[in-house]
Amino acid sequence: MVANLRVESIIKERKNNLCATMQDIGIKYGVSRERVRQILCRAGLPTKKWVQMYQCNQCGKEMRRKGVFCSRQCEHQYHSVTLVCRNCKKEFARRASLTRWSLRYGRKEDKDWFCSNKCKGEYHHTTLVCDYCEKTFQRPNSQIRHWIHHFCSAKCMTDYYRLHPKCFRRKKK
Ligand SMILES: [Zn+2]
Ligand SMILES: [Zn+2]
Ligand SMILES: [Zn+2]
Repeated sequence: MVANLRVESIIKERKNNLCATMQDIGIKYGVSRERVRQILCRAGLPTKKWVQMYQCNQCGKEMRRKGVFCSRQCEHQYHSVTLVCRNCKKEFARRASLTRWSLRYGRKEDKDWFCSNKCKGEYHHTTLVCDYCEKTFQRPNSQIRHWIHHFCSAKCMTDYYRLHPKCFRRKKK
């Protein structure tokens, strides 16, 4: 093989097979690894074994292993949406699929976003009348049991049950 022709073949080989190592090419064309490196350098071709890089769909980080996300965390972030809690105004992440689901099929009250059940309970209040002192007061809906008496305070509750020891349930009106 004429030297020039060999150089051309090596260059062609490199362009066609970016994954080949210098050694692989050298063996194939009967030249040293170093010689292959020189030829490729002169031709402006990469001399290192070329590795396919992938990009994380969420943070854009390059990664060697094939995949859509670099980490589980990125995957979660990608599939979640940032919502603002109606009660505490904090931002929080929620699975996008869950959000879509409740937008479509959820109960009406679920369409206000809350970071936690606690916030949800605090946001939905009802005004009640104390069964002992008859003052009005607010209570989170989640804490209201309609079949028992409502008291504005623990003191009202104790005082009431002192007067009506066995009357735990509300009388039906
Ligand atoms: Zn990532
Ligand atoms: Zn909240
Ligand atoms: Zn009271």
